[in-house]
Amino acid sequence: MPREGGRRELIDPATEEAFAQISAAGPAELDRAVAGAQQAFESGWRDLAAGKRAEILFAISKKLRDHADEIAAIESRNIGKPITDAKDEAALGARVFEYYAGAISKFFGETIPVASGGFSFTLHQPMGVVAAIVPWNFPFPIACWKSAPALAAGNCVVLKPASLSPLTALRLGELAHKAGLPAGVLQVVPGAGGTIGDALVQHPLVRKISFTGSTEIGAHIMRLAAGGIKRVSLELGGKSPNIVFADADVDKAATTSPMSVFANTGQDCCARSRVFVERSVFDRFVEKFVAATRALTVGGPDDPNTQLGPLVSTQQREKVEGFLTTAKSREIIGGDRPAGRGAYLRPAIVLGCETSDAVWREEIFGPVVCIRPFDDETTMLREVNDSPYGLSGSIWTNDLKRALRVARSVESGVLSINSHSSVHVEAPFGGFKQSGLGRDLGMNALEGYTETKSIYISEE
Ligand code: NAD
Repeated sequence: MPREGGRRELIDPATEEAFAQISAAGPAELDRAVAGAQQAFESGWRDLAAGKRAEILFAISKKLRDHADEIAAIESRNIGKPITDAKDEAALGARVFEYYAGAISKFFGETIPVASGGFSFTLHQPMGVVAAIVPWNFPFPIACWKSAPALAAGNCVVLKPASLSPLTALRLGELAHKAGLPAGVLQVVPGAGGTIGDALVQHPLVRKISFTGSTEIGAHIMRLAAGGIKRVSLELGGKSPNIVFADADVDKAATTSPMSVFANTGQDCCARSRVFVERSVFDRFVEKFVAATRALTVGGPDDPNTQLGPLVSTQQREKVEGFLTTAKSREIIGGDRPAGRGAYLRPAIVLGCETSDAVWREEIFGPVVCIRPFDDETTMLREVNDSPYGLSGSIWTNDLKRALRVARSVESGVLSINSHSSVHVEAPFGGFKQSGLGRDLGMNALEGYTETKSIYISEE
């Protein structure tokens, strides 16, 4: 149990009361964790047959499924996540381990005819110790979708959860080892980003940093990693568009769009927080969007009917309210605090904003959406791409050619047409521009956790 980094109280955001204490790791404990991971790498994990690693990952997946309700309950209490969502995310984590258990035996090298007297072939080799640094908004699934492919590929992992949300990462470490993961292969080190995060990134034994979090910290990590030419993959912020053309199923778009931005109380990197609606259907869309938003159930995270729980902390709520203050000259529907305790905030719909407004441009990470009309596709696309971010987005139209044309033009790593989905275990996930570098999930993630070695064999 780490101690050096001091103890921290965890606050239940639904009640604003402390419910647990956590010991944080300090620099010497971090050093031991990294050294332990390196030792586990050298003493066997990297050399284990892929099929054997797959067996262990399948066993981890099963263990996570067996404990899914417990994991969901911990997450829900820790960060105020509605229990129904927390259960889905626990199941997603188990599914990710299952996927990479199966994937690793299908991740092949190539045979390349480079010369008449021989040929080259490629090997995908593990890197060594991978640092996985994860945020507080989806703590469990993101911890799984970084650890599982890294482990499958033969790396050892040092996982650092966010200070606010360490509990399910710690449970993941325990359950993975109970399921048969050899000692030391997955190390979980809770602690503050500014102290052990920096030390982890700069540790000489860490070969790759896989980070999900804010663009600001992502840039900082990239700078720290530059000295050692360390591999980095970064999944960062977003300000994703939701584009609705008049020929779409406007009612379906309008009634499903609120949860594309307000789910997880808006604390979602893929939140569709900039809505572009073709002017001829703007009023109808807004009317239905507002009605669907008012029908959302804001409530206690332990109620299975709750769709929106509290924000992660009262500080996060104040940050979100600060954005609403900057928009007070615009029309704002909702955005008030319900009576009682807890970091709750009702969803806010901002109308009439300009593309220069902070609410329109900046990632808010709370339940705030801006809706603007557009008249022509070209101007709309210019506004869509006028953002430093490029993570996700939706396009609503029944014109196939238009859907494909617009999808090609939006600068974004993930898009969905006539839907709001963003994450599929089997498909690459990541951003353009300042939304990130590299891809999580799918077979692409395995590339990110391996080095490709090219070997020439002479037949002469
Ligand atoms: P954050 O950047 O504050 O923290 C993320 C992680 O980095 C935490 O574990 C934190 O402790 C750690 N950290 C902080 N300072 C560090 C340092 N100096 N060195 C190393 N590690 C450090 O982000 P957050 O507030 O936890 O999460 C919200 C952000 O995450 C949002 O911007 C959101 O868009 C982004 N996010 C992106 C994705 C994606 O896949 N693109 C997914 C979820 C969240």
